[in-house]
Amino acid sequence: MHDVVIVGGGVGGTVTANLLAEELAPELAAGRVRLRLITDRPEHVYKPAFLYRAFGRTSPAAYRRPQRELLHPAVQLVVDPVRTVDVAQRRVTCASGQSYIYTYLVLAPGARVVPERTPGLVEAGEQFYTEEGSARLYRRLERFEKGTVVVSVIGVPHMCPVAPLEMAFMLDAFFRERGRRDQVEIVYTYPINRVHSNPAIAEWAAPQLVQRGIRVETFFNVERIDPEQKTIATLEGAELAFDLLIGIPEHAAPAFLEESGLTVDGWVPTDRHTLAVKGHDNAYALGDVTDLPVSKAGSVAHYQASTVAANIAAHVRGLPAAARYNGKTFCFIETGTERATYVEFDYDHPPQPVRASRWVHWAKLAYNQAYWLTARGVV
Ligand SMILES: Cc1cc2nc3c(=O)[nH]c(=O)nc-3n(C[C@H](O)[C@H](O)[C@H](O)COP(=O)(O)OP(=O)(O)OC[C@H]3O[C@@H](n4cnc5c(N)ncnc54)[C@H](O)[C@@H]3O)c2cc1C
Repeated sequence: MHDVVIVGGGVGGTVTANLLAEELAPELAAGRVRLRLITDRPEHVYKPAFLYRAFGRTSPAAYRRPQRELLHPAVQLVVDPVRTVDVAQRRVTCASGQSYIYTYLVLAPGARVVPERTPGLVEAGEQFYTEEGSARLYRRLERFEKGTVVVSVIGVPHMCPVAPLEMAFMLDAFFRERGRRDQVEIVYTYPINRVHSNPAIAEWAAPQLVQRGIRVETFFNVERIDPEQKTIATLEGAELAFDLLIGIPEHAAPAFLEESGLTVDGWVPTDRHTLAVKGHDNAYALGDVTDLPVSKAGSVAHYQASTVAANIAAHVRGLPAAARYNGKTFCFIETGTERATYVEFDYDHPPQPVRASRWVHWAKLAYNQAYWLTARGVV
């Protein structure tokens, strides 16, 4: 019996489970393979919706689904947070105390935000990287009449590298639509000497920010925030005042991975092509939890799921694990005023943003609906 244990019921874990259920259907039917997905909540949450939630443009009913509904019937679902992974014993132990022995392990538990690592951020900052954070930000934005809004990228890498730019563009459109733009200054800050870590995206975005009258501060590494004075102090010695701070916090892998000794510098060391956890041929990692130099994006987790599923199916059949991930990434970028662009790139080909259009904006909204089919592995 081959026991496949997948940790995490997000996009990476769900797609991997469904692809394996299809691919290994004969082995599952014959009882030679058992496929388990262990996750920490009964509902699947589509995180990209949080950007829209922050502007009151979607609601939980649209971005949540019961996890069971998204899984192939052959996948056993366990809702029980994982507490430890013992790679020597090939065992995963959950909060209930229940343990699961695996032949093959897939780590897809995503990333978490750790705002507490930046002094003053929890007290003074808003963010849209969690469901609660985006709902709270919307309540603040609705009431915000005038003053300075700062969108500050504090922690890199973070989920969806283009989302802070999208937030800045959408804030501009939001305040224009309400006739408040001349009362609101928008400032966008980034830690390095350009507005995005990817040079091609930075080159495209910089003039877009200027056109919208969004002030930009680069080389802006946040050291601490003073919640009383409402100021940000940087390592470079600058100080910036705000009325509303939207801070993109530091991110990290879930704590249980660090406690299990499976992280280096906060992330799971992963082979960039095979997606095997380095030093463990029977364990794979995908999605936001890896240390790979790719975007922490749902599209990446989706493409990687094909590689992981193909390699595990090959192991089960005694064949070489020959599938390779090439760094493929696809991201839509909202530019405000009902327009969007997109980028597609991989390890060898840099992104080239196309001209923003209404068509791409509607394609992004359509994808948000079609997501439930892609998670099931249907498209
Ligand atoms: C505001 C925002 C906008 C975004 N926009 C886009 C976009 O436009 N396009 C795009 O491609 N990506 C976007 N993303 C990023 C995308 O959501 C993530 O990259 C993607 O969800 C990563 O998939 P994953 O499977 O690695 O992790 P996740 O989808 O986060 O899933 C991880 C799963 O593991 C579970 N889990 C966590 N800890 C445990 C535990 N201890 N035990 C068991 N289960 C556990 C979680 O509950 C969750 O179900 C956005 C993200 C945010 C926050």
